[in-house]
Amino acid sequence: MSADIFAPGFKTDPYWWEAAPRPQTPAKPLPTEADVVIVGSGYTGTSAALTLVRNGRGALLLDAEDPGYGASSRNAGYVGRTLWHKFEPLSRKYGKEAGKDLASQAVEAHNYVVNLIEKEQIRCHFKYTSRFIAAHTPSHYKKLTKDYDKLRDAGIEMNVEMVPKERQREEIGSDRYHGGVLLHGAGAVHPGLYHLGLLERAVASGAEVHGRTKVTNIVRENDGRFTVTTARGTVRAKDVIVATCGYSGPEVKWFQHRILPIKLFQIATEPLPKETLDRLIPRGRTLMDSKINIYWFRRSPDDTRIIVGGRCGTEDGGPLDKAQVLHEAMTEVFPELKSVKLTHCWEGQTGLSFDELPHIGTHDGVHYAMGYCGVGMPMGTYLGNKVGLKVLGKPEGKTPFDGRPFPGRSYYWGRPWFVPFIMAYYNFMDWWDRFTSK
Ligand SMILES: Cc1cc2nc3c(=O)[nH]c(=O)nc-3n(C[C@H](O)[C@H](O)[C@H](O)COP(=O)(O)OP(=O)(O)OC[C@H]3O[C@@H](n4cnc5c(N)ncnc54)[C@H](O)[C@@H]3O)c2cc1C
Repeated sequence: MSADIFAPGFKTDPYWWEAAPRPQTPAKPLPTEADVVIVGSGYTGTSAALTLVRNGRGALLLDAEDPGYGASSRNAGYVGRTLWHKFEPLSRKYGKEAGKDLASQAVEAHNYVVNLIEKEQIRCHFKYTSRFIAAHTPSHYKKLTKDYDKLRDAGIEMNVEMVPKERQREEIGSDRYHGGVLLHGAGAVHPGLYHLGLLERAVASGAEVHGRTKVTNIVRENDGRFTVTTARGTVRAKDVIVATCGYSGPEVKWFQHRILPIKLFQIATEPLPKETLDRLIPRGRTLMDSKINIYWFRRSPDDTRIIVGGRCGTEDGGPLDKAQVLHEAMTEVFPELKSVKLTHCWEGQTGLSFDELPHIGTHDGVHYAMGYCGVGMPMGTYLGNKVGLKVLGKPEGKTPFDGRPFPGRSYYWGRPWFVPFIMAYYNFMDWWDRFTSK
């Protein structure tokens, strides 16, 4: 490992925590009675809390760590309009109409979150950046064209522009790719500030938050109420929402069996000259490549540095190893950054469902929303609101995700032993695509 890539004071906490440190909740006693207990205080749990308290219900948000410690303060801040599941295979699998209904939810989620930021005046650097997906190979360029044509043909609200290789430098200061697709109407935020803003609104409206309060058991009693056991005491509640997504552990075993925690890593460079940023990411787009095992690149919201992310490898090493991998990935695309140092490298866990779709519903009387597969900034906020509406008994809580089976796998009970093999296969496919397209 080269020590040359680490700036003095290098940190393994998220870069986002510099401007949005995780709030420390006051050490007050846990109430013994609550209206709705929400397990997990990321976008999903916090959004559900906001909806509940604004509609006259009580919300007690509990998190095993400090509030928002999970993916919601660690992600890339891309505010997209698509599901992770590609549209073409989605409509092949579920039929054209159902495929369209499901894919349209991503647009609904996007619009919901943008309106919420505006309505609540959440200062999180939201910007419509448009997203450029850079084609890894010439055949990926053709595939991207086909996939987005199908989305448009299905009538999904999407403004898409193909950018051929000759025009690629308008979007990215690199010749590594083979053109790409520009998704207009996509945006970006500072994810940590967005989470803090949402949390502040929920608390100001009456939600109570307790960090460092791990839920260890949830039992439904004969009277229909719930006993929620935590590391800091027991709470009786009328309703419970589980919003633990990629951090679901054995305490919520039924959910853990259905959600794969996929570790992703990101780096932040040291501050760069404005001319460098303008050359490398000239229009301030959010960027990602079209590989199966993707990398992504963006400017920091304050336009001082570049953030790069990816799964980076088959095994989960620590942030020090992954910093090296991401630095190499960055310099493959932007060779002029070879001597640039990193101030941060951090990890986060995104929750992948086995059918690659978000899930919302009720199990044994416990409400849940999770499994956003990497698009949970808008989707977690949106389905957090929906699950809140369901607890309120409002018909507006309904979505096309309702009533869908939430599949687990007989071979998975919390240790994702097979992920390295899948990642090795994905890496091989990405390499093979490039090799055969030469
Ligand atoms: C590196 C990375 C980059 C990403 N980039 C993007 C992006 O650019 N755009 C996008 O849309 N999505 C992105 N995602 C996905 C997105 O961040 C998540 O889908 C979203 O934050 C999930 O929110 P959540 O509230 O459901 O879960 P989380 O924010 O993960 O919160 C779950 C919480 O549950 C708590 N918890 C777990 N177990 C317990 C327990 N027993 N008791 C109490 N609390 C518990 C955890 O401590 C955690 O705080 C990314 C994810 C990662 C990891």
